[in-house]
Amino acid sequence: MPTGVTVNALAGGGLERREHALLPPRPGGALLAVERANICGSDVHVWRGGHPTLHDCVLGHEFVGRIVRTDGSPMVDARGEPLSEGDRLVCTYFRVCGTCVMCVLGRTHLCEHAYDSWAHSSLRRPHFRGAFASHYQMHPEQIRVKIPPGMPGELAALANCAVAQGLAVVDAIRPDLVDGPCLVIGAGALGLATVAGGSAMATWDVYDRVPARRRIAARFPNARPLHEVPPPAGTLGGVYDVVVVAAGSAESFVTALEQVRPGGQIIMMGIINTRPTDTVSFTPGVLTRKGVTVTSVIRYHQRHLIAAVDLLSGPTPLREIPLAEFTLDDIDDALAAAERHESGRVSLVPHPDKGGR
Ligand SMILES: [Zn+2]
Ligand SMILES: [Zn+2]
Repeated sequence: MPTGVTVNALAGGGLERREHALLPPRPGGALLAVERANICGSDVHVWRGGHPTLHDCVLGHEFVGRIVRTDGSPMVDARGEPLSEGDRLVCTYFRVCGTCVMCVLGRTHLCEHAYDSWAHSSLRRPHFRGAFASHYQMHPEQIRVKIPPGMPGELAALANCAVAQGLAVVDAIRPDLVDGPCLVIGAGALGLATVAGGSAMATWDVYDRVPARRRIAARFPNARPLHEVPPPAGTLGGVYDVVVVAAGSAESFVTALEQVRPGGQIIMMGIINTRPTDTVSFTPGVLTRKGVTVTSVIRYHQRHLIAAVDLLSGPTPLREIPLAEFTLDDIDDALAAAERHESGRVSLVPHPDKGGR
């Protein structure tokens, strides 16, 4: 039986490459060849042991793949378009079961079985549970969208999770609150996807301490990169209608609380670590007295993945995000580069001999 490789994050830290058999896909699923997988900030958190549920898993979740095998039954994408062997697609890194309490309530982003595929060791069948691998076993409950012919993998790979997640943030903004500029904390792909998706809604100040990231943000027409946020105007001050936390540090929440105007909205997205050390000190009374709405955005709806592919198909400044490319063999260097924030996105190309495919 043919085999492929996975790159696994181990519970105690570190990485391990494993070779596994390429099993036939389960009914309704598909075996994909990974064309390109990006390193998302949360992959770095998993690698560093900061994720609450992912330990000993196959790293990687932001990717584009090509179907190499189905079970032979008809398969469609989220738009209802037929899918067959050879088609390229993006799929959610999480599952949507459709039958749990959250799914029945329409809150599919909170499906109780979201991580039932990803959060297991590759030693358990069907092995290929993450995208830092030669192949990927797509579960039938993962939402998938076909990639239009000719769309470069560099763009397609951004759809899940960065761009779909950014569009979910834009969807969560209360439009009645937006009058002046809004603030994004963190100019990584999540922050920039929010700016691109929310271009019709507001102008965006984009705060990031990393100069390379500010230079990328400067290419977005509706963005103003900031090296420093404005000094807080007293305990109950703040000027921004909406502050989106797209950075991973716990301190970003305090900055958001200082910068949001009374009656404004904070959207939490980037802070995902739940270790006991990932705490921060703030005065809850400020939250009350400013009348701030805090909205958390975790994962997204299938309409956001469809919209992400559509957004990336047109003229968008997201095309300006530079990519650094590595092979799977250079995974350590790639993760280190992603952690240093030197490039807009760091990509792994498992099959470079096939032009990525
Ligand atoms: Zn991600
Ligand atoms: Zn569910």
